[in-house]
Amino acid sequence: MDDYELVGNLHTHTVYSDGAGTHKDIAREALEAGLDFVVVTDHNVYVEGVDGYHYQGDRRVLILTGEEIHDPSRKPQRNHLLTYEARRELSTQAPSPQRLINAVGKAGGLSFLAHPEDPPAPLFDEESLSWVSWDVHGFNGLEIWNFMSEYKAHLTSWPEAIYFAFRPDLIPTRPSVEVLGRWDRLLASGQKVVAIGGADAHAWPVRKGPFRRVVFPYRYLFGCINTHVLAPTPPTGEVEADRGLIFDNLRKGRAFVANDRLAPSRGFRFTAQSGRGLHHMGDNVSAGFGVTLQVRLPSRAHVRLILHGRELRTWEASSYAVATVSEPGAYRIEASLWGHGRARGWIYSNPIFVTA
Ligand SMILES: [Zn+2]
Ligand SMILES: [Zn+2]
Repeated sequence: MDDYELVGNLHTHTVYSDGAGTHKDIAREALEAGLDFVVVTDHNVYVEGVDGYHYQGDRRVLILTGEEIHDPSRKPQRNHLLTYEARRELSTQAPSPQRLINAVGKAGGLSFLAHPEDPPAPLFDEESLSWVSWDVHGFNGLEIWNFMSEYKAHLTSWPEAIYFAFRPDLIPTRPSVEVLGRWDRLLASGQKVVAIGGADAHAWPVRKGPFRRVVFPYRYLFGCINTHVLAPTPPTGEVEADRGLIFDNLRKGRAFVANDRLAPSRGFRFTAQSGRGLHHMGDNVSAGFGVTLQVRLPSRAHVRLILHGRELRTWEASSYAVATVSEPGAYRIEASLWGHGRARGWIYSNPIFVTA
């Protein structure tokens, strides 16, 4: 039985913080983009009473509330934490990232380090919002790919900023090499760290002389860097059951990150077959007499099998890949495609953990 795939965005802002749209706007644009869920993560405010399904024809989208927490008194600004399912205001804990992570966990929630490598954009008075407190532990994962961080790297001059504002498809190239390196080192140290990707959508209206543009509309961003959660049972249409389905499986790491604008990634699967049966991303699999890793892709792509930062194998122009492994460790898949004149990252799986 195949998994049910829920495609969503885990990082977006509304008028409750520094976004330009309302929850209703987000629901409408997410429906147009074909998403199954969006988690609104306003800065330092847990907004209550807005969770629920929104409908359009025979489509529906689940809008849920998380939070993006940081310490506004910290100089310089750093350490943004995305939190889900704590279901209460915890931003008072922000001055200590570790206390905040502990509080989220104690409340039954999940925490992800947001845009861990974020460049400054001095021309626009935007400082780096990287994660710097790397001594923390107990968080669930990393936001390995963030659209706005990639755009910020282009904010070196007005012409460049405007050029990319009109050509947003040129922005996402791949997650930061530093972040992927961090992730691989955490995985190599035996930690289960789940990767997510996010739009960080604000839909800011920007004006400069004759230049007027919304940077970037929600609808556009909801079609780009998304997190696909795989679930063993289908969503029911009931809010509490379906939020459980999304976050229980995200917590396990049964998810992948993709730029769906480059090519639709629905249908990507990374599984393992062992003497004990079929296993999914996030699972521990005993090495036994060997584990067969299987990759299925909805389009032919350049596929890489990675173990702790080491490229073990590659496949060219493949929509299917298979490899037998026995060395313990966290195996993950990257797939890339040619788009807009260069090779671009497309799909980043979460790992399957082979144990001794
Ligand atoms: Zn942030
Ligand atoms: Zn944000």
